[in-house]
Amino acid sequence: MQPGSQKRERIQEHLLRESAINLLRTRKRQTGQQMLIKTILNKCHKFKSFVYQHVVLTWYCGEEIIEVTVVPRKNSKAICSGCNTTAPGYDSLNERRFEFIPLWGYRVFFLYVMRRVNCKTCGIKVEQVPWAKGKKELTTTYMQYLAFWAEKLSWQEVARSFKTSWEKVFSAVEYIVEFGLANRSLEGITAIGVDEVAWQKGHAYLTVAYQIDRENTRLLWIGRDRTENTIRRFFEFLGPERSLRLEHVCSDMWRPYVKVIAELACNALHILDRFHIVAMLNKAIDEVRASEHKKLIADGYEPVLKKSRWCLLKRKQNLTASQAVSLKTLLQYNLKSVRAYLLKEDFHAFWDYVSPAWAETYLDKWCTRVMRSKIEPMKKVAKTIRRHKSLILNWFRAKKQFSSGIVEGLNTKIKLTTRKSYGFRTYRCTEIALYHALGKLPTPEMTHRFY
Ligand SMILES: [Zn+2]
Repeated sequence: MQPGSQKRERIQEHLLRESAINLLRTRKRQTGQQMLIKTILNKCHKFKSFVYQHVVLTWYCGEEIIEVTVVPRKNSKAICSGCNTTAPGYDSLNERRFEFIPLWGYRVFFLYVMRRVNCKTCGIKVEQVPWAKGKKELTTTYMQYLAFWAEKLSWQEVARSFKTSWEKVFSAVEYIVEFGLANRSLEGITAIGVDEVAWQKGHAYLTVAYQIDRENTRLLWIGRDRTENTIRRFFEFLGPERSLRLEHVCSDMWRPYVKVIAELACNALHILDRFHIVAMLNKAIDEVRASEHKKLIADGYEPVLKKSRWCLLKRKQNLTASQAVSLKTLLQYNLKSVRAYLLKEDFHAFWDYVSPAWAETYLDKWCTRVMRSKIEPMKKVAKTIRRHKSLILNWFRAKKQFSSGIVEGLNTKIKLTTRKSYGFRTYRCTEIALYHALGKLPTPEMTHRFY
């Protein structure tokens, strides 16, 4: 053989080997790329009886998405959705699509051919898959993920951020709330607060009940209206045993509440909440100011009360510099508004008492002064206070441990959430949003934290 041809052969052989190695490398890289998402899924979202088969980037409804085909593991039995036990297979249905957490801006879908089982107890039933509940299109993990973000953003913002619809975000939050309500504990509740919240425009109300124990404050229950029937429904929900174990109940002076609390939580000390009494006083001042302002103008006097609202409502120490100046000017006039303001300021000293007996003496004197003041809205307040005196004094008997801050804080948070939810219009949405924001509900357990 010629040395030249030997050399050529060696070169050819070398080139062949090189290209074979390259081909192998490319193939390995390709399968490696395909494996990667599968590997991650198997790490964070693994199910014993199912296998992630293919992962592809493909088109669906005009957008590029990641599609993951899921198949049952060999020899694994399907679970009956009726009774949650394994059952022999019957047939297969069409492929279903389940949406999972999006990845790098691509929506992710699991594709799975649902099986039907022939269950001994339930008959022919669709199987129960572990990544989704019932007919839900979203996987449980994805619902939890959306609900987590819905605590921080509005539902609309969540929908926009994750390329999904408002309805899907709502259904995710609803699922998580329903799970939480079914799995929460109602043990150890010793103190509750009952409050009414204006809802929607007009005079629609909701009744809300909170747990206000020091170590656990949360929303317990919501009901439509603020009737006797509403509050009875709350105690029905709580159950007679738990109701009788209550030690403290805070509420406002709404008559149906007072009546039903005395009847069904009869072992509890009923405290009229300080926050509501202050609110009632402020409302009276507002009324006096508004009617006096109108009268001054009608009688041709200088409108000194114009823009005085905050001066009269705020505590003195909270006034801004300019408000303090206008308060000083106002105080020079012998106006009803001013006298009402001074009475309100005096009332604050009441809360500083420690002994219920001394507090009572102070309250009596204050009421007498108000009754002589000839200021009708204030007299109305004094009458209400007299009527509920013993419940108001219970605040001192409870050693002031239920500061107005607890109920007031929850009340503010409720108002914020309902305001955000005005767009929803339906009671169901409001209910779900409130439980989600204030219920401190438990969430389904996850083996991996996705957020
Ligand atoms: Zn069954």
